[in-house]
Amino acid sequence: MSYLKTIDEIKGFGDTAVIPAGSLEQHGHHLPVGTDIIIAQSMADRIGERLNAYVLPCLPITTAYEHKGKRGSVWMNADTFYKMLCDIVINLKDQGFKKVVILKGHGGIFVMDPAIRHLNAELMPRAAVCLLDPTFPAALNGIIGCANDLHSGEYETSVMLHLRPDLVKMDLAVDHIPDVPRPFLQYGSFFHYCPDGVWGTATAATAEKGRLCLEAITAESIRYIQKIFSMTEGRSYGKTE
Ligand SMILES: [Zn+2]
Repeated sequence: MSYLKTIDEIKGFGDTAVIPAGSLEQHGHHLPVGTDIIIAQSMADRIGERLNAYVLPCLPITTAYEHKGKRGSVWMNADTFYKMLCDIVINLKDQGFKKVVILKGHGGIFVMDPAIRHLNAELMPRAAVCLLDPTFPAALNGIIGCANDLHSGEYETSVMLHLRPDLVKMDLAVDHIPDVPRPFLQYGSFFHYCPDGVWGTATAATAEKGRLCLEAITAESIRYIQKIFSMTEGRSYGKTE
């Protein structure tokens, strides 16, 4: 956790910073509302350690309109988050962090895409931003059996069983896969489709699957980040003939 370091210790980090973004939102009856925050911070810390990067404390509140209707879920408007994210990246860039990784620890932060495209168009080649979505389907295939596991299901419950088993109430875990695809969240909250707040197979979760997921995600993330930054190094966003 880089935020426990002193200014002198922070001088020892390289030119990479990692911003984990989570969400404060309902995770069914069996997981805490801070699940995305715990998982995103843990992933970012693992990645940061491998890259000698400065890891920021996880952004706990982002965008999660889809969980409207459950007390305890808190979000901000997309344009507020967009501006906040840009401010943080510019701040880091001004301090010499030329490579900024934004770890998307909650699938519903769709506004990250335009923000990162805007930042790269403005900042490259002086700095570049990598959007890291750690749910690499190929890496998790073979560990997680459920192919339609979106929220509080096998994947998240397994990772939480590995990281914080004390916070998981497996006796309250349920399985539910709605008969609609994810884009239907444009037309109503999660609870229209998933009355228990779970989209996936939470009862199939194990701590060992969680450990394997984190291991696979860390390895894939390092490969992905290195690929992006080796490509953006010295390159302008625009290409003029
Ligand atoms: Zn989650």
